[in-house]
Amino acid sequence: MAEETIFSKIIRREIPADVVYQDELVTAFRDIAPKAPTHILIIPNVLIPTANDAQPAHEQALGRMITVAAKIARDEGIAEDGYRLIINCNSHGGQEVYHIHMHLVGGQPLGPMLA
Ligand code: 5GP
Repeated sequence: MAEETIFSKIIRREIPADVVYQDELVTAFRDIAPKAPTHILIIPNVLIPTANDAQPAHEQALGRMITVAAKIARDEGIAEDGYRLIINCNSHGGQEVYHIHMHLVGGQPLGPMLA
């Protein structure tokens, strides 16, 4: 059984976060240390530690993360200019929080890499 992270507490609204979207499968909230004008994290409500742990049973939640990212991008007014979706995995990927999350970053031209 994987260890919960601070993101589980955000899902359950036990600690403060700027939650911009939540449904039965995913939660989205603003990153506490934004690297771009829009920097939102989209996470499954179920704990999947890393991309390596993704299973077929998770496909609905993982797919929802992308459709919700697109909706938020439209809501943020950055859809037309574009944005970047990033999932970091393990140490070489720069993953810090072991609850899989998709970064939605945009609102400015992005360099070759940003996460
Ligand atoms: P990673 O490097 O794991 O892909 O990204 C983790 C992200 O989570 C970082 O961008 C970091 O700023 C963000 N983060 C870490 N702890 C918190 C928190 O307690 N609240 C929020 N809103 N973001 C967090």
